[in-house]
Amino acid sequence: MSQPEYQRVDSPDASTVFEYHDLTPPTTADVYRARQTLRDHLPETPLVRSEWLSREYDAEVYLKREDTLPTGSFKIRGVATVLAGLDEAFRDQGVVTASTGNYGRALAQAARWFDTEAVVAVPEGTGQNRIDGIERLGGRIEVVGDDYDDSAEWAADLAAEEGYRYVHPGNERLVMAGTGTAGLEIAESLPEVDVVLGPVGAGSIGAGYPLSVGSVTDADVIGVQAASVDAAYRAWQTGELTPQDEANTFADGIAARVPYALPVRVMREQLDEMYTVSEEEIVETVAAMFREERIMMEGACAPPFAILDELRDELAGKTVAIPVTGRNLPASKVEQVMALQ
Ligand SMILES: *Cc1c(COP(=O)(O)O)cnc(C)c1O
Repeated sequence: MSQPEYQRVDSPDASTVFEYHDLTPPTTADVYRARQTLRDHLPETPLVRSEWLSREYDAEVYLKREDTLPTGSFKIRGVATVLAGLDEAFRDQGVVTASTGNYGRALAQAARWFDTEAVVAVPEGTGQNRIDGIERLGGRIEVVGDDYDDSAEWAADLAAEEGYRYVHPGNERLVMAGTGTAGLEIAESLPEVDVVLGPVGAGSIGAGYPLSVGSVTDADVIGVQAASVDAAYRAWQTGELTPQDEANTFADGIAARVPYALPVRVMREQLDEMYTVSEEEIVETVAAMFREERIMMEGACAPPFAILDELRDELAGKTVAIPVTGRNLPASKVEQVMALQ
């Protein structure tokens, strides 16, 4: 029998939320607190000047190497911030989410640090490499359903029935705050930064960077999404949280079919600009990054780099920072990228 605090509540968007999902927007102070929390667990990531992009765009372009973090993506920042503050009752029971990739891996890593159990629901057909990455960290994998939505429903049921803490794919204020700690690092090592661009899926970077580097420097923060999965972009423009039917993109890390209420709200209030880029541009950008920098990045990293051509005039002479958000590119996609070399 489940206790009242584990009940679902009315959701402002097309996702499942529980009473413990606080939909109050995070603040810059929350980002500073998250940094205190993460200090003992994560190193600062390198900020490295790209000679290639700096010359190409007549600008000072820096790469924030979030792909060097444990688990290979920035997601550990946000998830670890949530788990560090978990109520005892949840810590005794465990945490659950649905993810085919980086979110699940981060959850398993953070659960190990904070001594709780992580359950990660993935759909049939999830790559063995991704499953291994989660299990190696002690995460319990449940293969359920044909697609992400089925897995998410199963995860929410487990949360409701057995009292696991459902770590929401988007409506987690501490995920945004934790993600924003990268923005603080950029602000401190590059206070003269003029423009920061980042990819947007659910929107933890799109919300977390304006609250950090966007608040403590004069920098504009720009979000970029895949045109083929642009639910958050449309919600940012219109204020309406309309899901799309499918979420197919090479950039699977940003294939967010549902726009989530909390990050969309923060992005509408805080993000300076938003754009979308095509599938072709995404794949070509990943290929170009390998060709020129020998960085093999995920498709999800590519949108902010892919928009640089369009912003060429605006960026000339400016100092620009862009995160390389993750390095967990599936082997089949590596082949696709290598074919373009
Ligand atoms: C999740 C992810 C993103 C996008 O972050 P959101 O919070 O979904 O907007 C970008 N890059 C990588 C590598 C990711 O794993």
